Amino acid sequence: MNLFVIRYAEIALKGSNREWFEKKLLHNLRRHLDVLGKHHSWKIHSRMLVETELDATLVAKVLSQIPGIANFSLAVQETHDLEQLGKAVQTLAEGYLTKHPQTQTFRIQASRADKFFPLNSMNLSAHLGGAILERWPHLKVQLKDPQMELGIEIWTQGRAILYLEKSPGLGGLPVGSSGRMMSLLSGGIDSPVASWQMNKRGAEMVYLNFHSYPYIGEESKEKVIQLVKHLSRYQPKTILLVVPFAEIQKEIKTLCSERYRTLLYRRAMNRIGNRLSFKYRTKAFVTGEALGQVASQTIENLTCTEEAAQFPILRPLIGLEKSEIIKLAKEIGTYPISIQPYPDCCTVFLPRKPETRAKLEDLLAEEAKLDLNALVAQAVAGVEVLKFETSLEDRFF
Ligand code: ATP
Ligand code: MG
Repeated sequence: MNLFVIRYAEIALKGSNREWFEKKLLHNLRRHLDVLGKHHSWKIHSRMLVETELDATLVAKVLSQIPGIANFSLAVQETHDLEQLGKAVQTLAEGYLTKHPQTQTFRIQASRADKFFPLNSMNLSAHLGGAILERWPHLKVQLKDPQMELGIEIWTQGRAILYLEKSPGLGGLPVGSSGRMMSLLSGGIDSPVASWQMNKRGAEMVYLNFHSYPYIGEESKEKVIQLVKHLSRYQPKTILLVVPFAEIQKEIKTLCSERYRTLLYRRAMNRIGNRLSFKYRTKAFVTGEALGQVASQTIENLTCTEEAAQFPILRPLIGLEKSEIIKLAKEIGTYPISIQPYPDCCTVFLPRKPETRAKLEDLLAEEAKLDLNALVAQAVAGVEVLKFETSLEDRFF
């Protein structure tokens, strides 16, 4: 049986909301682990524990991807019996030293939630350090950057846990604790990274994709589905809304001035997004826009497109360079999916010379040529709703 102890950082800052945040994290943790198989997970002493027969490497991989977890350790459980604790520390050290025979330095880090425990943290560290030196007299205690580090936490009700290393988690806040948002997800590199950033800040995503069938093929939709499946390792249950966008694009192409085309597409996306936000109870839009990256992302043009949105538009990548975004996309694993060469709806009827500093009144005049209400209603009526729960295969193989 493996025992994982999970620590969370930022949640602790949340004062009276703390319990609610913890509940969210525990709920997410259980949902993510349910995908793997049987486990018993619960909260104790500002920690979460997972007891399971499941493969430890697999569990560790899942834990490392759940927003809200600061770090975690594979642990052993003991009683408060000092002699037993000494033996347990020796067993852990033996495992480590067999793998790392060159080890010279170590330290014991003890903490105590049970203040009735007879030794304070310092004395307990010294006591257990003694147990190590008794077996391996050549080792030296080193408080700063030791090679081997052993942790012990004394809990109430006669429980103690010991562990060797802390594996880093994603940090951030549990998904859902910052509310629901609508992520405008193209098949590109940027928007999946933006979604992940907001997941880490506790936002739950409803994904929205605009698709220009028949001008672009089914492969483009498949690519977005792959992205959503991949991203659901950070958020276990997801909805993807696919909006038919070709009709609106055709009307814009036929009736409006060419240089405003992309901006009119963007404004139409926001209008459709507004309607769907009410229906799916999302509180903001999330996009992958970065200042000045392309013509539609100058501050003037962003201002013009934003005007059509009834909800705040959050742009977590706004100050990043493309190379920084690509680095993140590689880290989170969306990059290889994003670079598959299938077009996005925005490439349909690309203007030869797009406007870089549009004026709102000009865009409004262009829009007046369209029967926007009817076009938006038609697009909303045609939305395809896809729901995902990550399968084991999608995650790991
Ligand atoms: P990305 O790599 O995310 O596609 P980009 O640099 O290619 O971004 P644009 O194509 O101008 O930039 O898109 C800007 C943002 O608009 C995207 O990040 C995304 O949030 C949204 N967007 C663009 N096309 C679509 C689409 N087909 N469906 C949903 N959202 C879209
Ligand atoms: Mg794009």
